[in-house]
Amino acid sequence: MKFWSQYFVPTLKESPADAEIASHKLLVRAGLVRKLSGGLYTYLPLGLRVMQKLAQICREEIERGGGIELAMPHLHPAENWQQGPRWPAAREIMFRADSSGEGKRSAHEPEFVLGPTHEEVITPLVKAEITSYRDLPKNFFQIGTKFRNEIRPRYGLMRAREFVMMDAYSFDVDDEHAIKSYHAMKAAYEAFYRRIGVHTIAVEADTGVMGGSFSHEFMVPAEIGDDDVIYNEQSGYAANRQKAMSALVPADLKDAPPEAAVEEFATPGIVTIAALEAAPYAVPADKQFKTLVYMGDGKPFAVILRGCDELEEAKLGALGFTLFRPATPEEIEPVMGAKPGSLGVVKGTIKNGAALAGVFADHAIRLVGNGTTGANKDGFHLRHVNVVRDLTITKFGDFRRVHPGEPDPKSGQPLQLRRGIEVGHIFKLGTKYSEKYGAVFTDDQKQSHPMVMGCYGIGIGRTLQAIIEQSHDADGIVWPWNSAPFHVLVCVLDPQLPEAMDLAKKLATAAERAGADVLIDDRAERPGVKFKDADLVGIPLRLTIGGKGLKEGIIELKWRAQKDVAKIPLAEAEARIAAAVTGARSQANA
Ligand code: ATP
Ligand code: MG
Repeated sequence: MKFWSQYFVPTLKESPADAEIASHKLLVRAGLVRKLSGGLYTYLPLGLRVMQKLAQICREEIERGGGIELAMPHLHPAENWQQGPRWPAAREIMFRADSSGEGKRSAHEPEFVLGPTHEEVITPLVKAEITSYRDLPKNFFQIGTKFRNEIRPRYGLMRAREFVMMDAYSFDVDDEHAIKSYHAMKAAYEAFYRRIGVHTIAVEADTGVMGGSFSHEFMVPAEIGDDDVIYNEQSGYAANRQKAMSALVPADLKDAPPEAAVEEFATPGIVTIAALEAAPYAVPADKQFKTLVYMGDGKPFAVILRGCDELEEAKLGALGFTLFRPATPEEIEPVMGAKPGSLGVVKGTIKNGAALAGVFADHAIRLVGNGTTGANKDGFHLRHVNVVRDLTITKFGDFRRVHPGEPDPKSGQPLQLRRGIEVGHIFKLGTKYSEKYGAVFTDDQKQSHPMVMGCYGIGIGRTLQAIIEQSHDADGIVWPWNSAPFHVLVCVLDPQLPEAMDLAKKLATAAERAGADVLIDDRAERPGVKFKDADLVGIPLRLTIGGKGLKEGIIELKWRAQKDVAKIPLAEAEARIAAAVTGARSQANA
């Protein structure tokens, strides 16, 4: 048991000026963390206790899912990353710890980076240590600090520059076993989130810069979340916005036949979809083709959408470029022959079509059938453009942003949208890393194969804050049992009375024996202050001992999540508290 007067729980009445959301305010006000600088936080004793509890439950569940714990360095030789498949993309978010500049000791000093994640360290390790199918599968994990130079650190621990992550890496002999490892981890995540008392939705996710074949994100539904979840409650379909698809284009759609010959018409000064929609042209946006030009690993490529659709940029990841970005007007004109606003991909109109790495069309343009597009001549457009007859298309794909109300790909019912906080992520990586680093094994026929990998991450700090975001009220935090810094708060209103403190210790001992962590509020503060702090800090079970109650022969028992207060005769107090603790524990771990 700990005594508040000697411990350190610096609660605050006011929220810090930079805290925009409830959980960030409460994190600071309840004395869990203090800010050092943007995205850098000190865990105060209460905050550290929660972090340690979450980490321990996470450890238990990942181990149950087959994980083996180890710990890798935070500081990585840049060389490890240079040899890997994503150095150009990853270096933008990495803090460099090289000795260039003032502190440089020699020109040959290697460059170091602070690890944002550890594929680049674990894969070479496994390559060196594991050579035979007899030693597979293996799933290594650690719980440690990660560093990411986030462009916009915000919301406290939600998006920090330095944060604690559980990261795991599985190695299997083939796809089938890799999928088993993936599902074992998915089940471990579900058990973890259930035990810590937070509701999550597993959504299909984009594989982004990690590459690889499939992935799920675990989302805590919350208004302030950074991510959009597209879902349908009945069918169970759930995907993040980057990945979400809809059944907007019917599977049996017949391509519209051409309606007339392509015709050029003058559109002086018209460079937007909206301007072409207006009089005198009056071309509806869903009858226009939108042509975007991107640079993929240094080469231009075009993306074609309906005029009324928006590009979901992350979906371009499926095209296989390591790095891509919108092309500049200076890059576009020599290739297309016109500036943005007059572009199109009608056969024979592209100035230097050979320079294009491809023309990628969203499926939904088939709904346009015959439409209007730029002529690759500033101030001119083309109409009666037929998708099949007239457009140069390398490949169709899904590139558009899905909107709520569109048909669910599973059930055809309208899709819904809600915001979520990504607290965990699982990827089936495939052989991208093992091939790059030569992490191969020999099978029973002495044949060599790359290991099939998966990688997995849980943000411990972000999860802590998501719990608060999901579980608080106007007065403060309402901790779920297993996440709480302490389970029981013994609130002593008259700590100057020796009999009150003796009873507090006796009840605390009874609670501890039943498996609770106990904090005794023995501060010489007014009851109002103590109750306010108790609500703010949010410890699940509060016992109140006061001089008046002692005279009446009672103490009070109150759950943070409930309104009513139970008066308990002193003679029953120890047994009742032990029973309350036992009940709460078994419910939380059911
Ligand atoms: P985001 O999309 O939010 O930037 P991410 O997809 O880059 O996150 P992953 O690489 O999948 O994150 O990392 C695994 C987990 O680590 C995430 O699910 C999240 O819980 C946590 N995490 C990632 N970045 C941060 C951060 N800057 N601060 C705190 N936690 C983070
Ligand atoms: Mg992620």
